[in-house]
Amino acid sequence: SSPASSYDCSFKILLIGDSAVGKSSLLVSFVSASHIDDEIAPTIGVDFKIKFLTVNGKKLKLTIWDTAGQERFRGITSSYYRGAHGIILVYDVTKRESFTNLADVWAKEIELHSTNKECIKMLVGNKVDKNEERMVTREEGLAFAQESGCLFLESSAKTRENILEVPSLLEEGSSVVK
Ligand code: GDP
Repeated sequence: SSPASSYDCSFKILLIGDSAVGKSSLLVSFVSASHIDDEIAPTIGVDFKIKFLTVNGKKLKLTIWDTAGQERFRGITSSYYRGAHGIILVYDVTKRESFTNLADVWAKEIELHSTNKECIKMLVGNKVDKNEERMVTREEGLAFAQESGCLFLESSAKTRENILEVPSLLEEGSSVVK
Protein backbone atom coordinates (compact mmCIF):
# COMPACT_ATOMS: atom_id res chain seq x y z
CA SER A 1 0.00 0.00 0.00
CA SER A 2 1.11 3.52 -0.73
CA PRO A 3 2.43 5.81 1.98
CA ALA A 4 -0.01 7.96 3.90
CA SER A 5 1.34 11.04 2.18
CA SER A 6 0.21 9.97 -1.32
CA TYR A 7 -3.37 10.15 -2.51
CA ASP A 8 -5.38 10.76 -5.66
CA CYS A 9 -7.91 13.21 -4.34
CA SER A 10 -8.46 15.26 -1.22
CA PHE A 11 -11.78 16.10 0.44
CA LYS A 12 -12.49 18.66 3.09
CA ILE A 13 -15.39 17.78 5.38
CA LEU A 14 -16.85 20.10 8.03
CA LEU A 15 -18.71 19.11 11.19
CA ILE A 16 -21.14 21.81 12.29
CA GLY A 17 -23.54 22.17 15.20
CA ASP A 18 -23.95 23.35 18.77
CA SER A 19 -21.48 22.46 21.51
CA ALA A 20 -21.98 19.06 23.14
CA VAL A 21 -24.15 17.53 20.40
CA GLY A 22 -21.44 14.91 19.87
CA LYS A 23 -19.36 16.23 16.95
CA SER A 24 -16.00 15.23 18.43
CA SER A 25 -17.36 11.85 19.48
CA LEU A 26 -18.69 11.19 15.98
CA LEU A 27 -15.38 12.29 14.53
CA VAL A 28 -13.42 9.90 16.74
CA SER A 29 -15.86 7.03 16.06
CA PHE A 30 -15.79 7.64 12.36
CA VAL A 31 -12.06 7.99 12.02
CA SER A 32 -11.35 4.94 14.18
CA ALA A 33 -14.06 2.80 12.53
CA SER A 34 -12.77 -0.12 10.53
CA HIS A 35 -13.55 0.94 7.04
CA ILE A 36 -12.37 0.18 3.53
CA ASP A 37 -8.76 1.24 3.84
CA ASP A 38 -8.24 2.40 7.35
CA GLU A 39 -5.01 4.23 7.53
CA ILE A 40 -5.01 6.85 10.22
CA ALA A 41 -2.44 9.56 9.96
CA PRO A 42 -1.21 11.22 13.15
CA THR A 43 -3.41 14.06 14.28
CA ILE A 44 -1.84 17.27 13.09
CA GLY A 45 -4.06 19.70 14.95
CA VAL A 46 -6.71 19.40 17.61
CA ASP A 47 -9.44 20.56 15.27
CA PHE A 48 -9.16 18.12 12.41
CA LYS A 49 -8.47 14.50 11.63
CA ILE A 50 -7.29 12.80 8.49
CA LYS A 51 -8.64 9.56 7.09
CA PHE A 52 -7.65 7.73 3.93
CA LEU A 53 -9.98 5.43 2.09
CA THR A 54 -9.98 3.77 -1.30
CA VAL A 55 -13.02 4.15 -3.53
CA ASN A 56 -13.04 2.87 -7.12
CA GLY A 57 -9.31 2.22 -6.90
CA LYS A 58 -8.58 5.84 -6.01
CA LYS A 59 -7.07 6.72 -2.69
CA LEU A 60 -8.99 9.55 -1.06
CA LYS A 61 -7.66 11.78 1.65
CA LEU A 62 -10.38 13.12 3.95
CA THR A 63 -9.66 16.06 6.16
CA ILE A 64 -12.47 16.33 8.69
CA TRP A 65 -12.74 19.61 10.55
CA ASP A 66 -14.56 19.92 13.82
CA THR A 67 -15.98 23.34 14.67
CA ALA A 68 -14.98 22.83 18.31
CA GLY A 69 -17.84 24.93 19.59
CA GLN A 70 -19.67 27.70 17.85
CA GLU A 71 -18.16 30.64 19.72
CA ARG A 72 -14.69 29.99 18.41
CA PHE A 73 -15.95 28.94 15.04
CA ARG A 74 -17.87 32.13 14.40
CA GLY A 75 -14.70 34.17 14.03
CA ILE A 76 -13.21 32.03 11.28
CA THR A 77 -16.21 31.31 9.12
CA SER A 78 -15.04 32.10 5.60
CA SER A 79 -11.72 30.27 5.76
CA TYR A 80 -13.39 27.37 7.50
CA TYR A 81 -15.88 26.90 4.67
CA ARG A 82 -13.48 27.59 1.82
CA GLY A 83 -13.04 24.55 -0.39
CA ALA A 84 -15.31 22.30 1.66
CA HIS A 85 -16.65 19.30 -0.26
CA GLY A 86 -18.99 18.05 2.43
CA ILE A 87 -20.77 19.54 5.45
CA ILE A 88 -22.14 17.37 8.25
CA LEU A 89 -24.74 19.20 10.38
CA VAL A 90 -25.13 17.56 13.77
CA TYR A 91 -27.84 18.00 16.42
CA ASP A 92 -28.67 16.14 19.61
CA VAL A 93 -32.10 14.44 19.39
CA THR A 94 -32.55 15.06 23.15
CA LYS A 95 -31.85 18.85 22.90
CA ARG A 96 -34.50 20.63 20.91
CA GLU A 97 -32.50 23.86 20.77
CA SER A 98 -29.61 22.13 19.01
CA PHE A 99 -32.08 21.22 16.25
CA THR A 100 -33.78 24.62 15.92
CA ASN A 101 -30.35 26.30 15.94
CA LEU A 102 -29.43 24.38 12.80
CA ALA A 103 -32.25 26.10 10.95
CA ASP A 104 -31.93 29.47 12.70
CA VAL A 105 -28.16 29.81 12.86
CA TRP A 106 -26.17 27.17 11.01
CA ALA A 107 -28.15 26.85 7.78
CA LYS A 108 -27.89 30.64 7.38
CA GLU A 109 -24.14 30.57 8.02
CA ILE A 110 -23.71 27.90 5.38
CA GLU A 111 -25.79 29.84 2.91
CA LEU A 112 -23.61 32.91 3.52
CA HIS A 113 -20.18 31.33 3.54
CA SER A 114 -20.26 28.14 1.55
CA THR A 115 -19.04 29.02 -1.92
CA ASN A 116 -19.08 25.49 -3.31
CA LYS A 117 -22.61 24.88 -4.57
CA GLU A 118 -21.73 21.24 -5.24
CA CYS A 119 -21.00 20.76 -1.55
CA ILE A 120 -22.75 17.66 -0.17
CA LYS A 121 -24.70 18.24 3.04
CA MET A 122 -25.71 15.63 5.58
CA LEU A 123 -27.97 16.13 8.61
CA VAL A 124 -27.19 13.84 11.55
CA GLY A 125 -29.46 13.51 14.61
CA ASN A 126 -27.10 12.13 17.25
CA LYS A 127 -27.61 10.40 20.66
CA VAL A 128 -30.47 8.13 19.55
CA ASP A 129 -29.37 5.72 22.30
CA LYS A 130 -31.11 8.17 24.69
CA ASN A 131 -34.44 7.49 23.03
CA GLU A 132 -36.49 7.93 26.21
CA GLU A 133 -35.23 11.55 26.40
CA ARG A 134 -35.87 12.28 22.74
CA MET A 135 -37.19 15.80 21.98
CA VAL A 136 -36.92 15.77 18.18
CA THR A 137 -38.71 13.12 16.16
CA ARG A 138 -37.18 11.31 13.23
CA GLU A 139 -39.92 12.80 11.01
CA GLU A 140 -38.94 16.35 11.98
CA GLY A 141 -35.31 15.62 11.20
CA LEU A 142 -36.20 14.12 7.86
CA ALA A 143 -38.46 17.06 6.96
CA PHE A 144 -35.71 19.60 7.71
CA ALA A 145 -33.20 17.55 5.74
CA GLN A 146 -35.50 17.45 2.73
CA GLU A 147 -36.21 21.19 2.95
CA SER A 148 -32.54 22.06 3.11
CA GLY A 149 -31.21 19.55 0.59
CA CYS A 150 -29.38 17.33 3.07
CA LEU A 151 -28.94 13.57 3.27
CA PHE A 152 -30.27 12.38 6.64
CA LEU A 153 -29.53 9.83 9.30
CA GLU A 154 -29.82 9.35 13.04
CA SER A 155 -26.77 8.07 14.89
CA SER A 156 -25.24 7.26 18.22
CA ALA A 157 -21.56 7.87 18.78
CA LYS A 158 -22.00 5.83 21.98
CA THR A 159 -23.48 2.63 20.53
CA ARG A 160 -21.95 3.35 17.10
CA GLU A 161 -25.36 3.04 15.47
CA ASN A 162 -25.16 4.25 11.86
CA ILE A 163 -21.57 5.44 12.28
CA LEU A 164 -20.48 3.55 9.20
CA GLU A 165 -23.26 5.20 7.21
CA VAL A 166 -21.46 8.53 7.45
CA PRO A 167 -19.01 7.62 4.65
CA SER A 168 -21.94 7.30 2.25
CA LEU A 169 -21.67 11.07 2.07
CA LEU A 170 -18.12 10.68 0.88
CA GLU A 171 -18.81 7.87 -1.52
CA GLU A 172 -21.41 10.05 -3.14
CA GLY A 173 -18.86 12.87 -3.26
CA SER A 174 -16.31 10.49 -4.76
CA SER A 175 -18.28 10.45 -8.01
CA VAL A 176 -16.19 13.48 -8.92
CA VAL A 177 -13.12 11.21 -8.81
CA LYS A 178 -12.99 9.55 -12.20
P1 GDP B 1 -19.18 18.33 20.68
O1 GDP B 1 -19.02 19.50 21.58
O2 GDP B 1 -20.29 18.53 19.71
O3 GDP B 1 -17.91 17.92 19.98
O4 GDP B 1 -19.66 17.09 21.61
P2 GDP B 1 -18.79 15.91 22.28
O5 GDP B 1 -18.40 14.91 21.25
O6 GDP B 1 -17.73 16.51 23.11
O7 GDP B 1 -19.90 15.22 23.19
C1 GDP B 1 -20.53 15.91 24.27
C2 GDP B 1 -20.98 14.89 25.31
O8 GDP B 1 -21.98 14.02 24.77
C3 GDP B 1 -19.87 13.97 25.78
O9 GDP B 1 -20.07 13.74 27.17
C4 GDP B 1 -20.08 12.70 24.98
O10 GDP B 1 -19.61 11.56 25.64
C5 GDP B 1 -21.58 12.67 24.86
N1 GDP B 1 -22.03 11.98 23.62
C6 GDP B 1 -21.60 12.18 22.35
N2 GDP B 1 -22.27 11.40 21.50
C7 GDP B 1 -23.15 10.68 22.22
C8 GDP B 1 -24.14 9.70 21.88
O11 GDP B 1 -24.36 9.32 20.73
N3 GDP B 1 -24.87 9.21 22.93
C9 GDP B 1 -24.69 9.59 24.22
N4 GDP B 1 -25.45 9.04 25.16
N5 GDP B 1 -23.77 10.51 24.57
C10 GDP B 1 -23.01 11.05 23.58
